[in-house]
Amino acid sequence: MDDKIEGGCKCGLVRYSGFRSDAPMFRCHCRDCQQLTGTGHSEIVPLVANSLSIGDALKTFEMTGGSGRLTFSGFCPNCGSPLTRRSERMSDCIYVHAASMDDPSKYYPAKPIYREAA
Ligand SMILES: [Zn+2]
Ligand SMILES: [Zn+2]
Repeated sequence: MDDKIEGGCKCGLVRYSGFRSDAPMFRCHCRDCQQLTGTGHSEIVPLVANSLSIGDALKTFEMTGGSGRLTFSGFCPNCGSPLTRRSERMSDCIYVHAASMDDPSKYYPAKPIYREAA
C-alpha cells in the first residue's frame, strides 16, 4: 500500500507527509492518549517510519509507555496540536494522529466505534 498521507498542526507551523504502513489504524483509549490529547482517545494512523518527512519545529516529549519502553510524542510548540507518536517497540512505524491529516476521511479504523458521531 502506498497511500500518501499529508497533514499538519492547527497553526500550520509543522507540516508532515509520509506513506501509510500496512499496520492497521486504531483508536487508543489509554491514559497517555487521554492526557496528551485532552480527549477520551487518540485516532492513530501508522506510517512507514523512514517515509516520513516532518517540519523541524516539531517538539518531542519522551515518556515510558504502557509496554515499559520509551515512547515519543511529537507536537507543535506553537499551537500544541499532537501530531506524532513513536515507540521503541515498533521502530519501523511512526504514528500520526488522524485529526491532523489534511484529509481525515482517509481514516478508517479497523474497528470503528460510534463512527456516525465522528
Ligand atoms: Zn501548530
Ligand atoms: Zn494510547
